[in-house]
Amino acid sequence: MTFAGLDGVILDMDGVLWRGNEALPGAAAFLDWLRSRGIPFALASNNSSRTPRDFVRKCAQLGLGIIDERHIVNSGAVAVAYLLAHYPPGTPVYVLGGDGLKEMVVRAGFPLSDADKVPVVLVGIDFNLTYERLKRAAYLVRGGAAFVGTNADATFPMPDGQAPGAGSLLALLHTATGVAPRVMGKPEAPMYHAAMQVLGTQPASTLMIGDRLDTDIAGARRLGMPAALVLTGVTEDEERAIPVLPGEQPTVTVPDLPALQVLWQAAL
Ligand SMILES: [Mg+2]
Repeated sequence: MTFAGLDGVILDMDGVLWRGNEALPGAAAFLDWLRSRGIPFALASNNSSRTPRDFVRKCAQLGLGIIDERHIVNSGAVAVAYLLAHYPPGTPVYVLGGDGLKEMVVRAGFPLSDADKVPVVLVGIDFNLTYERLKRAAYLVRGGAAFVGTNADATFPMPDGQAPGAGSLLALLHTATGVAPRVMGKPEAPMYHAAMQVLGTQPASTLMIGDRLDTDIAGARRLGMPAALVLTGVTEDEERAIPVLPGEQPTVTVPDLPALQVLWQAAL
């Protein structure tokens, strides 16, 4: 991989910049180094339960500096960008999801609706889900509403275990309706395209840095982006990592961000 030609970076957050509520060693220094070199970066997360503003706050609290809200691309933000690109403002949307997601949809000019005829159903992680709400979503999709999912993660990490994630809810509705959702988050393309649009960069010169082979890395490689796997998150041991398709291997694997920075610096 040629580091010299890179002109933008997309970083996953959990397992790359922090774990839980602690910044990973060298994460702040790596971001400062990118800033000092004038290399723009975006932070990408499949988590739709928080807004980009929440992530800006978290970055500041963890000493990662001030990050422009537009440079935080979570699956909720990508879903809203998708709505803006495909539907006129004022289009009612039925949302299964948390307050963060609902707030973003409303702020973008799309009123929430529980009516019988709603053209779009948007589904993210929803911690207050009821059968009634699921049923309504299924009826709407069966009636022809567009079915949009924030992300397909099967699980959502909670202090007491791996809870059902947005992907599990999408699977339920897919089974109930026979309609597959249009998914926004990694490894699907919309999230990478949204981030690159913010950065103003092209796939071949944009480095994706992530800790998950089947989402962060696989999705980037499918789009022709170089991708760096860090072993500070869910993939702790490259030897025991889950196998991925030949074209979806990381371009480079490093123990952590400081090691990536050393490699990159040496190549300049
Ligand atoms: Mg991660």
